[in-house]
Amino acid sequence: MTTPLTSLLYYLPSPPMVFRARPAARRHLVSRGIDVATISLDASGITAFRELLGPDVDLAAFLDQVSIGRTPGEQVRAYLDADAASPSGSLPALESSAHWGLLVRATADPALRAKFIVVEETPRACPRCNMTFPRVAVEDLRQYGVATCCSRLILSRAL
Ligand SMILES: [Zn+2]
Repeated sequence: MTTPLTSLLYYLPSPPMVFRARPAARRHLVSRGIDVATISLDASGITAFRELLGPDVDLAAFLDQVSIGRTPGEQVRAYLDADAASPSGSLPALESSAHWGLLVRATADPALRAKFIVVEETPRACPRCNMTFPRVAVEDLRQYGVATCCSRLILSRAL
């Protein structure tokens, strides 16, 4: 599948921005239903852009980076979709959160798992008590896909 070039060009980073641009580009593509594992990029048609971007921007390498490394929201989706036994291997955002132990326990404990609050978009307030989240909780949701409130785990499926 060939990616709409304009989509990807929007996210092309200047070298210092590569780290932050990659998840943004991935979110953009995934949210539009583009399978990032199968996209390919024909850079031969965008010579002018390449000249504008400079010689250091490696389109193929950037796309390779975008195709690996799921966003926290994608990892939450994978965790929730996984069959009971064990979460599927590579969920680095969830694994590095303070709640990984609980998430693992919940795979074998449906009652525990049923208490999780799952949201589609990163909320500014707790969906249960409506208290505005402290900044750290919002950051946890963005960085790890998970935070807590009301003694409940909140999982964000936001890409
Ligand atoms: Zn709450």
